[in-house]
Amino acid sequence: MKKKVTKIGVLTSGGDAPGMNAGIRAVVRTGIYNGLEVYGIMRGYNGMVENDIFKMESRSVANIIQRGGTILKTSRCKEFFTPEGRKKAYDNLTKLGINGLVIIGGDGSFRGAQTFSNEYDIPCVGLPGTIDKDIAGTDFTIGFDTAVNTAVEAIDKIRDTADAHDRLFIIEVMGRDAGYIALHSGIATGAENVLIPERKTDIEEVIKQLAEKERRHKLVNLIVVAEGDEFGGADEIAKIIKERLPMQDVRVCILGHIQRGGSPTCFDRLIASRMGYSAVECLMEGKFNVFVGMINNRMHYIPLNEAVKKKQRISEEWMKIVKILAS
Ligand code: ADP
Repeated sequence: MKKKVTKIGVLTSGGDAPGMNAGIRAVVRTGIYNGLEVYGIMRGYNGMVENDIFKMESRSVANIIQRGGTILKTSRCKEFFTPEGRKKAYDNLTKLGINGLVIIGGDGSFRGAQTFSNEYDIPCVGLPGTIDKDIAGTDFTIGFDTAVNTAVEAIDKIRDTADAHDRLFIIEVMGRDAGYIALHSGIATGAENVLIPERKTDIEEVIKQLAEKERRHKLVNLIVVAEGDEFGGADEIAKIIKERLPMQDVRVCILGHIQRGGSPTCFDRLIASRMGYSAVECLMEGKFNVFVGMINNRMHYIPLNEAVKKKQRISEEWMKIVKILAS
């Protein structure tokens, strides 16, 4: 029989994502509503190892739901990979009587949580917070919708200038291992092609398509590339195209970190609020080593190990849609 959870800690870890603040707010306020003490842990697992932990009140999370970034800061923590580091973290938590944890982060952070709760009697619940949407077992992750909307807004602007000059733009979006930002923003902006890490890029096919469009005098073209594409991103693709199609006026735009910032969309605030609420319920029900995922608009508790690098599958139909709609 597990001990009843009375004091919980909340932290944000790994890559930041807009909506993390809304998640923190939901955890703090749901915890307090249920009579729990809630502690904020600074800079991911570093705060646990270095005892940078403070008690939070309902007012601690006032005026943050609309803010990007994370008030608890986030970082990577080397020490947490070691048994000594995790022991320090455990000692610091037990000194304060913290007996439950909510971890907002990506699959790496979930791996850390799983290792920790396998070793120590502190239940951990995850909230999927990553702009990349690369966690299996949930339809969406906190931050993805904001990032993809930022990309769409930027690509629309690029289209205006591409159109004015009859240019081909290669736009690089984030996604080292996952192509969801590229795929969603590419379809939503009418890109000619979307190049993603999950699929082999047939560069001959890309050239053939562009050459065909050149013959038809269709010169405004947008290609969206995820940074982790096998050709090494937008610059490399542009180099190849310039060599093969010298008539094309090719430009590159790398969107970069703007995709991580900004005020979270309504959708991200909503799922972060619902997931944060569910995470506290989950700890109180005595379930642990799970994360809160959303499937068909309902919250589910999914074992942490299912999230860990089991990728979401890219839909072949979506790739077909890109091709058909760009013709
Ligand atoms: P993300 O959560 O965005 O995927 P990372 O992969 O960088 O980010 O992981 C965040 C942190 O989680 C790491 O810096 C480390 O502290 C912790 N972590 C990740 N994997 C493990 C592991 N196998 N054991 C212990 N801690 C881990």
